Amino acid sequence: MKPIYLDYGATSPVRSEVLEVMIPYFQNEYGNPGSIHDAGQRAYDAIQYARVQVAQALGAESAREILFTSSGTESNNLAIIGAARLQRSKGNHIITSKIEHPSVLETCQYLEQEGFQVTYLDVDSFGSVHIDNLKNAITDQTILVTIMAANNEVGTIQSIAEMGQLLKETPILFHTDAIQYIGKVPFTVDQLGVDLLSIGGHKIYGPKGVGALYIRKGTKIEPIMFGGGQERRLRPSTLNTPLIVGFGVACQLAVQEAKSESQRLTSLRNDCWQRIQDEIGNVELNGHPVLRLPNNLNLSFDRVEGQAILLELNRSQIYVSSGSACSAGKHRASHVLKAMGKSDDIAHQSLRITFGKETTENDIHLFIESSKQALHYLRSLMI
Ligand SMILES: *Cc1c(COP(=O)(O)O)cnc(C)c1O
Repeated sequence: MKPIYLDYGATSPVRSEVLEVMIPYFQNEYGNPGSIHDAGQRAYDAIQYARVQVAQALGAESAREILFTSSGTESNNLAIIGAARLQRSKGNHIITSKIEHPSVLETCQYLEQEGFQVTYLDVDSFGSVHIDNLKNAITDQTILVTIMAANNEVGTIQSIAEMGQLLKETPILFHTDAIQYIGKVPFTVDQLGVDLLSIGGHKIYGPKGVGALYIRKGTKIEPIMFGGGQERRLRPSTLNTPLIVGFGVACQLAVQEAKSESQRLTSLRNDCWQRIQDEIGNVELNGHPVLRLPNNLNLSFDRVEGQAILLELNRSQIYVSSGSACSAGKHRASHVLKAMGKSDDIAHQSLRITFGKETTENDIHLFIESSKQALHYLRSLMI
């Protein structure tokens, strides 16, 4: 049996259209895009083309608003540190949420050491940030708000557009981590009302190790790395032509297909969830029932640890993710589920299943059959 990959929230395969456009830039077109000769200029032109593709995918006004980085993580670091440090004379307060990806949370924690004050907003039991909480957290010292568009663990989608509307009336910069969101839900940067937005390649069938930061015209940040003058001096280092060229195509296709793919995945996901309730039962859905990524299910099966189910499914070559990692016999519960007010038990039981392009109805059927067996076996071990 072919392995069944249900972990698209962790990463996705490079699609053939992306691989194809990258190959020439690994093989023949290796010029440095900063070089003046033709080999360099061909690489430069390819990068500029990708920049336009990314700008169009985001509905940005100009390709100049797109900065290429090495990852979603780097885009988040650069947006938050770069914006905070440059705005330091105007204030020292940053607002984020308790359920952000570590690349945002740990960056904010780091900035606390530099003297910034950070408010970590609570979420409700669905993982939603309430706009009133955001409103109440704003002070005359607030310079930056960073809230993720969609959560990678539980899939909850935030009302970024509503927050953007609120923040538009203020000089406060607004950043969102849209790394899980892009390609799943159609949007433009103007609809969201953001000044800064992070995306990455490998969650949208692009290569790993490449990302972009959208910086709205007029928004000022400072670099966090120093070197050559690339990317308007904001992100030095020789640009990775093949990955950027592939990323451009991945963004373009992800956004073109967002609507139809999201409809297909929502229907697959809803059928899967219905069958799990009907045929397995004793299960809780984590995250928002409706405002969630179309490809995400985060489940807690009563009395059984997520990691135990993961390992059982792995024996049948079905790949999923669990909410807590067990290292050296110690469990660390997900900070997201804890922030949602879930018990330690529910947090440790959490199992994340994320669907993608290659997922078929038959995969879901096999996943459910294997899960039934796994749960039956694991529960039989208990007294
Ligand atoms: C994957 C992910 C990241 C990190 O992106 P990398 O490109 O792997 O560095 C950040 N935020 C969210 C929400 C993610 O899902």
